[in-house]
Amino acid sequence: MIEYAQQIGANVSQDGLLEGAISLWDGDKNLHTQNAVLAGEAASLSDPLSAEGIRPSIFSGVKAAEAIDEALGGNGDALKKYTQIINEEWGADMVWAGRLAGAFYRFPKVAYKVGVKLPAATTVMSKILCGELRYADIASTAIKKLSSSFLPGRG
Ligand SMILES: Cc1cc2nc3c(=O)[nH]c(=O)nc-3n(C[C@H](O)[C@H](O)[C@H](O)COP(=O)(O)OP(=O)(O)OC[C@H]3O[C@@H](n4cnc5c(N)ncnc54)[C@H](O)[C@@H]3O)c2cc1C
Repeated sequence: MIEYAQQIGANVSQDGLLEGAISLWDGDKNLHTQNAVLAGEAASLSDPLSAEGIRPSIFSGVKAAEAIDEALGGNGDALKKYTQIINEEWGADMVWAGRLAGAFYRFPKVAYKVGVKLPAATTVMSKILCGELRYADIASTAIKKLSSSFLPGRG
């Protein structure tokens, strides 16, 4: 990491570096308290399959801002509603991303061949990243395909 940072011209030393794992979604959580909400990476919203974190960070940031605005306007349930919105609109699909990740990372070599190298898979993943498809729409078929390719003689 230091080597990479130096290559791009950053002046860093080992002492000045703090490393941390990407905080992947691993189940719905309470994202609010009395006067605060969690959004983005701090809320562990990154996709457990692709590690995509920018889109959920922007999405939750916008929803958090709306909730704070409503709370300041006197809506006592606004922050609670924020948790519900994130869990329903993001968490519900991350359940499927988590299931797919479970199948994908179990046998990554085979999964890479079946799930990444195929042009159709790239198209599907692009649509997911653009928000045009949800994991829920494709997960069952994808998991079946991945599972069958793990069987002896099929990989
Ligand atoms: C190497 C790498 C590659 C990635 N690639 C992708 C990718 O291709 N696509 C994708 O979607 N996601 C990617 N991600 C994940 C994505 O970068 C994060 O999920 C996303 O940036 C999180 O956004 P955020 O605003 O929640 O947090 P951050 O972008 O981490 O922003 C938090 C900010 O708060 C500041 N901060 C922290 N503590 C304090 C403090 N006490 N006071 C004031 N400021 C503070 C930090 O300096 C930082 O600027 C990648 C992550 C990594 C590490």
